[in-house]
Amino acid sequence: MPVFCSSCDTKRAVLKRPKTGHSLCKECFFGAFEEEVHQTIVSARLFNRGETVGIGASGGKDSTVLAHVMKVLNERYDYGLSLLLLSVDEGITGYRDDSLETVKRNQQQYDLPLKIVSYEELYGWTMDAIVKQVGLKNNCTFCGVFRRQALDRGAMMLKVDKICTGHNADDVAETVLMNVLRGDIARLRRCTAISTASEGDGVIPRCKPLKYAYEKEIVLYAYFKKLDYFSTECIYSPNAYRGHARTFLKDLEAVRPSAIMDVIHSGENLSVREGVRMPTQGTCARCGYISSQALCKACVLLEGLNRGLPRLGIGKHHRLHGKILAEQPLTELEERKLRAVDF
Ligand code: SF4
Ligand code: ZN
Repeated sequence: MPVFCSSCDTKRAVLKRPKTGHSLCKECFFGAFEEEVHQTIVSARLFNRGETVGIGASGGKDSTVLAHVMKVLNERYDYGLSLLLLSVDEGITGYRDDSLETVKRNQQQYDLPLKIVSYEELYGWTMDAIVKQVGLKNNCTFCGVFRRQALDRGAMMLKVDKICTGHNADDVAETVLMNVLRGDIARLRRCTAISTASEGDGVIPRCKPLKYAYEKEIVLYAYFKKLDYFSTECIYSPNAYRGHARTFLKDLEAVRPSAIMDVIHSGENLSVREGVRMPTQGTCARCGYISSQALCKACVLLEGLNRGLPRLGIGKHHRLHGKILAEQPLTELEERKLRAVDF
């Protein structure tokens, strides 16, 4: 007996929605998925008419679905937004160069302007070169810090009002778990936010329209829409800790699909006790980017790379910031500690 779509009752169901368990036909699934993203955008008031919105585009499934859905909804509901694609080239041979080819095709398919900013032009270092110096354990720390600033700088060049990224419900739930496991209260409070306000000069507000979309549904949407995306993993992707959080979450989801939403809601509702010390935001004395220390993380990481002291930005070396700024020499012991690449 064929199963009919539980929504339209006329067409055959081709899938069971991972989020709700409903059997749906293709068209009703597209409709339900798009409508939920629209509701997320409207209820959180993510955008205002007339804004220019940069879509962080990596060529992967999340950002490709995001670009596609944003374009569809902007036209269907007349949001009045100018959309463009914003990509970061980390300089990872055999990975990012290929995925950027996908972004370039998406640019043609969706007819959106595209801006690519590269680590090489912004920082003078590619990830390939960084991995040669720091090894494969802390590379994602460098990459994550640099990417955040790179997106902001690209967005500023294009005078973008907001950046939206393809973070999905699984990503957010994973991050909640990781911050709980690390006891990182400041990040825990921020990581579930659907949008961040402008935190000062040089930081552009960001939002996550796919915050409540399940990864499995994003994959189904991309598959049935035949979207053109790139699905290879980064060749430098060890990130073991996140991997464990991910596996753990997938195990929970297999037993109870609502686990993903439950973790997000728990993260949203955890409040921080009065009197817990939170870092205060200032600006980096060197580059002007927001920072809770004298120097921003990117400047410290770069200083470490350029001086052959790759551990400088890993762990807590805040007390050295004053010396770096004043260009004072480090002691032999300090240098020795920072040079060790046994990490
Ligand atoms: Fe960068 Fe790590 Fe992501 Fe690769 S896995 S792109 S190195 S953050
Ligand atoms: Zn800085």
